[in-house]
Formats: sequence, C-alpha cells, structure tokens
Amino acid sequence: MMEFRADLHCHSTCSDGSLSPEDLVKHAAEVGLKGLSITDHDTTSAYATAMPAAKKIGLEVIPGVEFSSSHQGESIHILGYAFDPAHPSILALSERHASRRGSRNQEILNRLAKLGMPVSDEDLKLEVQGIAHTIGRPHIAKAMVKKGYVESIQEAFKKYLGEGRLAYVPGTAFSVEETIQTIHEANGLAVIAHPHLIDNSDVLQKLLEMDFNGIECYYGNFAEDQNSRWLKIAKKKGWLATGGSDFHGDVKPAIPLGRSWVGEETFRILQEHYKSQ
Ligand code: AMP
Ligand code: ZN
Ligand code: FE
Ligand code: FE
Repeated sequence: MMEFRADLHCHSTCSDGSLSPEDLVKHAAEVGLKGLSITDHDTTSAYATAMPAAKKIGLEVIPGVEFSSSHQGESIHILGYAFDPAHPSILALSERHASRRGSRNQEILNRLAKLGMPVSDEDLKLEVQGIAHTIGRPHIAKAMVKKGYVESIQEAFKKYLGEGRLAYVPGTAFSVEETIQTIHEANGLAVIAHPHLIDNSDVLQKLLEMDFNGIECYYGNFAEDQNSRWLKIAKKKGWLATGGSDFHGDVKPAIPLGRSWVGEETFRILQEHYKSQ
C-alpha cells in the first residue's frame, strides 16, 4: 500500500480550479491520496459539498482556504487550515473579498475595452463553472482566449493581466495581519503560502516575524533542494511545515494533484486541531 499522502493546497470550481469539489475529492482518491485540503481563493464554499463527498469515499479532508492579502504593496497568499468553514469571521472576510473582486474585475474589463478587447459580464459568466464564489483574473483570461484576443491563459497574463501589465489593476487589498487575525478568530492555523514565490526579501523577513503557525515548505513542482530552505525556517520557528500541489486542473495543466504533499504526522496535527474545536 502506498504511504499516507495528503495534498494541502488545491483549487475547485468555487474559485479558479476546473474540477467541482466532488470531482476534486474523487480525483484525490484516484491518484492515491489519503488526505486533502481544498484551499480555494477567498472562499470556503467548496466544503458544503466536498465534506459529504469525501465521507462517502473515505477520504480524510481538513477545511482550508487561501486568502489573498498584501504587505508593502506585495501580493501575499495566506493559507488557513482546520477551522469551521462556516465560521462567521471566515464568511465575513470572504464576503469582503467577493465585493472587492467585483469592483476590481469591472476595472480590468474597462481597461480591456479601452485596449479594443471588450469582455462583457456575460462573457465572464460563461467562464464561471458551477457555484464559483471567487471570480478573478484566471476567469477573465479564459474569456480572452475564447474571444480570440490571445492564444492562451499564459499569454493573457503575460501581456495584459499580470502584475504591471497593460490591463493590470491591483484593487483593494487586505493586510496580512488582519487576515491572520481572522483565521485565528475562527480557531484556525495561519500558514505562509508558497514562500518560494516571494522575491522581496524585506517583505519575507517581515512575514517571518508575524504570528503565523506554519509555512508551506513543499510546493507545486519545486524540487527537494528548493524546499530545504523553508524546512529549516519552519524548524527554527517551531512552525508547521505544510505542503501541497496548488492543483488547478486546466488553469495550470503542468501541475498534477499530489505533486507536493505532507505525510501522516503533519496531517494528524491539523486534524487534531480541527477535531478539538
Ligand atoms: P486574482 O486572484 O484574480 O488576482 O488571480 C490570481 C490567480 O491567477 C493566481 O492565484 C493564479 O491561479 C492565477 N495566475 C496568476 N498568474 C498566472 C499566470 N501567469 N498564468 C496562469 N494563471 C495565473
Ligand atoms: Zn488560483
Ligand atoms: Fe497562491
Ligand atoms: Fe493556490
């Protein structure tokens, strides 16, 4: 039998993944995972259907989320784990994100229209599968591909939607501190997502002084030698060393579910935390 593996970072159609929560849970079991956390951007709405689906097939699931935040103008993603996915503090922050995204998406569409690439609200809705609560740049990128403005999602980001590009709008941002506080209010654990992607060493230093409970040491396609730096930091700080693939399905086809994972020991720590509430 394969060793116990749990992927603690993936996205469903509730944000910008291409599998529904039920299909994501089934896919996890198919690829041999024993544990999973679905960490949609800024929403926990996957759990209403993911939990019953996981129970049915015997996959162990711990609630999670990936909140967008910002520090000194740098975009920072924060993972939250092992809380009640319907906790009022979590739902309130999700609502604030939905509202800021509504205005930001509109501004992006305005810019695209000025660039001669109109994408209507209806075009955007067609890219939203199921009950997506979090609509963002990946959905806009897909609409742009469909309209024939670009060849691929990658090209859409590279030319127009990526940071600093022609149609980029930063939008309102919430601080790292308030995001950690919200996760803690819900009795969850706050984890720095993919530190591998943080280029600004000053910002990274500031994050390492904050009230996190863990850091995502194993991530996506990153190799062992690139993870060791983060494992050392986790050890030094007494933080949890978490990990996951950041699987999105079609949006990021190069990364399969289960590409990065944690073993049973880490998974049980999170599970105990969840059950103790
Ligand atoms: P948003 O939350 O609307 O700012 O969109 C950010 C999301 O867009 C990220 O979490 C990724 O899933 C996706 N993304 C960012 N850059 C790229 C890229 N170059 N290619 C494909 N997806 C991207
Ligand atoms: Zn995403
Ligand atoms: Fe992220
Ligand atoms: Fe992610």
